[in-house]
Parts: sequence; structure tokens; C-alpha cells
Amino acid sequence: MDFKKLSVFLQENGLPAFRLKQVRDAVYKSFAGSWDDVSALPAPLRERLKHEFRLHSVEAVKTLVSKKGDAVKFAFELKDGLKIETVLLNLLPEKWSLCVSTQVGCPVRCPFCATGKKGLKRNLSPDEIADQFLASAAWLKKNRGGKIGSVIFMGMGEPFLNYESVSDAIKIMTDPELIALGQRHVSVSTAGHVPGIRRFAKDFPQCNLALSLHASEDVLRNELVPLNRTYPLSQLAKALNDYIVMTHRRVFIEYVLLEGLNNSRSQAAKLNSWLRSVAAPKYFTINIIPHNRTGSQYRAPARDRIKVFAGLMEENGFEVTVRKSLGEDIAGACGQLAGK
Ligand code: SAH
Ligand code: SF4
Repeated sequence: MDFKKLSVFLQENGLPAFRLKQVRDAVYKSFAGSWDDVSALPAPLRERLKHEFRLHSVEAVKTLVSKKGDAVKFAFELKDGLKIETVLLNLLPEKWSLCVSTQVGCPVRCPFCATGKKGLKRNLSPDEIADQFLASAAWLKKNRGGKIGSVIFMGMGEPFLNYESVSDAIKIMTDPELIALGQRHVSVSTAGHVPGIRRFAKDFPQCNLALSLHASEDVLRNELVPLNRTYPLSQLAKALNDYIVMTHRRVFIEYVLLEGLNNSRSQAAKLNSWLRSVAAPKYFTINIIPHNRTGSQYRAPARDRIKVFAGLMEENGFEVTVRKSLGEDIAGACGQLAGK
């Protein structure tokens, strides 16, 4: 919603300035889904605004609910007709988490990820990121009565390659006058963009950082996460160490398990020593993500082999979680967001 334009519109039409605050509160506090939900306004004004302004910069053109009802995927259309995807995940009873996109496509092109396949179309604006929250919250309010308790920047795109917009969107989400989420309930996942990690440590020391590592040797990581050719593991280790020294925060390490590539005993040992070269194990939670099918040649290991890898890292002293895949039946799981 373009509040500057709305303010000008109100002025030019001789309408009272408090209308702006009423619209703002309806959008950010009450999660109005359409102009009809902005009930504080007189009906004739609402009708006029309907023709002049879109409430959100993104519009759901498709909404898919998983069989179990624990995941909802939205296909949002942007003003220029491009589409992005956003996923609502019901992790705990009454607690929803929202996975937002930051770019249309992604320039990093990790070969196991559906988003990377098509390369980058464009960056999202701050409003297009924040409005994914507002439009999803409006849907949730209407359809489930629940609330979004946390946001993860883990949808389409590499957040730190669109730092300005991501930063502005986090400000909208955490501003007490606007969406008012706590910084602790915001997490950003990066493929290892070193300058981004450094800026993030300064700008948002209370937010959570997740690093998509997937390999702890440069040869393999160059292949799996091509951004590693620009920011190799040695640089990444320094940035991560500085991040931890500065923020004293625990970092989430995402590790997509790919059978025969990064799940051997020796890979577990390398992961152990790379992480220990950065900081003590208590500073990490390792999220093991069994690979979700995207039509590429990659496969997740069998369940017992996933357990073995997780067990090895636990023996090494790390907290380990194996991500359960919500929303696989609606292609809303990690790496399956392609914006078809
Ligand atoms: N670009 C950022 C954030 C979005 S990707 C990043 O890479 O961190 C979100 C997570 O999904 C990343 O950890 C990514 O590696 C993982 N992912 C991508 N494709 C996947 C797939 N097919 N199966 C499982 N996880 C995948
Ligand atoms: Fe981009 Fe992340 Fe997918 Fe890699 S995993 S292509 S960085 S969205």
C-alpha cells in the first residue's frame, strides 16, 4: 500500500488526515484483506479508494492448502504480472510461521533448488516483501483465526543480494507502530553472502541468521552453492566468527542432505572441523534438510542414512534437528518454490 500517495490523495480531496491512520491501523494492526474490511471509513470513501488504490502490492492468484492443513502456499501476482510464492507453515498449535520471498527467481543457481533454475527476474521492493506478510495474515485471520508469530526469509531468492529491500521490510515487520513482530521472531537465511552477513550483524543483531552451508570443502561447495566461488569457505568462516563475537547469537546451519554427495562420514567430520574453526558447538544448531525432489538428479538419502549423519553430528557435540517436510504435496517445501 502506497501511504504517501494515499496521504496526497486525502489532502487533494480535502479529506481529514486521520483517515490515513485509520487505513494504516486497518492494514497493519487488523490485517484487513480488502477495502471492505477497513470498516472505520465511511462507505462512499471506501468505494472511491477501491478504484484508486490496491490495499496490498501482492495479490493471491492461487492458494493451495496441504492435505494435513499444516501448510498453505500462496502464488502472489505482482503489479508487473510476475509471480512469487509464499508459504505459511503451522509448526506449533496456533503458531504460524511465514516463509517469504525476496526476489523473483534467484541468481545464485544452486543446482538442487527449483528457484535457482530460472535465474533472477528482479528484486522485490520492501512493500512487496512486507505485503506477503499482510496478505497472508489477512487470509489466516479470515480462514483459520490464527496469527503469524514468526517470519523466515527462506522463500525464493537470496536475501542479501537484495539487502536494502530486505532491511526495509524487516523494519516494517518489527516497527511497533506497524506489524510489531519482535526481532527475535525474524530469521534470514543466506547462501553465504559475506558482506550481507556483516551488515546484518550491525543492523539486526537481535534477528536470527541461518546459513545454507551444504558442504564444508570448497570444491564441493562451489558446485552446490555457486556463490561460494565469490565468497569461499575461509571468508565465510571469518564473517561468521565475527557475527558470533559481535552478536553472541546462535547461528542456524542449513544442510541439505544429498545422497552420495555430502552425507558421508568424512563429510560429517569436515563439517565438524569447519564449524569448530568458526566457534564452539554451542553456537550452532544444525538443521538437516532431506532434499526435496525438484526434478533434478539429486536424491535425499534413505531415512536410516539421514539418522546416521544426524547422529554423527550429535556425537560431535552439536544440536541437530532433521527438518520434517511440511507442504510437500503442494510443492511448498524448501527448494520447491519456482513461481510456476
Ligand atoms: N537463498 C537463501 C534462502 C532461500 S533457500 C538460501 O539459500 O539460504 C531456503 C533453503 O532451502 C536453503 O537452505 C536451501 O538450500 C534449501 N533448499 C533449496 N533447494 C532445496 C531442495 N530441493 N530440498 C531441500 N532444501 C532445499
Ligand atoms: Fe537461491 Fe537459495 Fe535456491 Fe540457492 S538455495 S538457488 S541461494 S534460493
